[in-house]
Amino acid sequence: MTSPAADYVHSLLASYPDFPKAGIVFQDLNPVFANARAFRSLVDELAGRHAGQFDAVAGIEARGFLLAAAVGYAADAAVLAVRKGGKLPGTVLTEEYDLEYGSARLELEVGQLPPGSRVLVLDDVLATGGTIAATSRLIERAGYELTGVGVVLELTALQGRSRLGAVPVHAIVAV
Ligand code: AMP
Repeated sequence: MTSPAADYVHSLLASYPDFPKAGIVFQDLNPVFANARAFRSLVDELAGRHAGQFDAVAGIEARGFLLAAAVGYAADAAVLAVRKGGKLPGTVLTEEYDLEYGSARLELEVGQLPPGSRVLVLDDVLATGGTIAATSRLIERAGYELTGVGVVLELTALQGRSRLGAVPVHAIVAV
């Protein structure tokens, strides 16, 4: 099944073998974001697919921020920033996780939303799933309900979806 957004991703996505290190094929979505109609189509699909199912959108630093801000605005929803370790003040929740390349830490400030708020998590690429799984744990530890995950591109060979449990996951393009 195809969609306007999927067509834009297929035509504009740039792949860079061996970046940022040997063996990784880096999928660069910036050319998709840099095309106004393409970007709008991504936002429309992500917001529409989960319409009525979320009160807030959580974007994962850094490319997830671009999507979350736009989807939050389009859907009249709150926006949460899930940040890399050490950047947030006050009381924060922390999750350590493994990446396709390296390991990392993500954090979320507590008390940003009413308890039980329904949250849609957005990022650009679903690879091993470690990043979104860690974000899901942060959302649940903060007292919110994870009601959906949206990504532009899913790398199916890495089976990241299997780490995300029963939550509905929508990928605009799966390769
Ligand atoms: P993962 O935790 O393995 O699912 O990795 C997802 C995160 O790493 C996302 O925030 C992506 O931006 C980034 N990422 C992982 N693999 C790639 C890739 N092959 N191309 C571009 N970004 C990637």
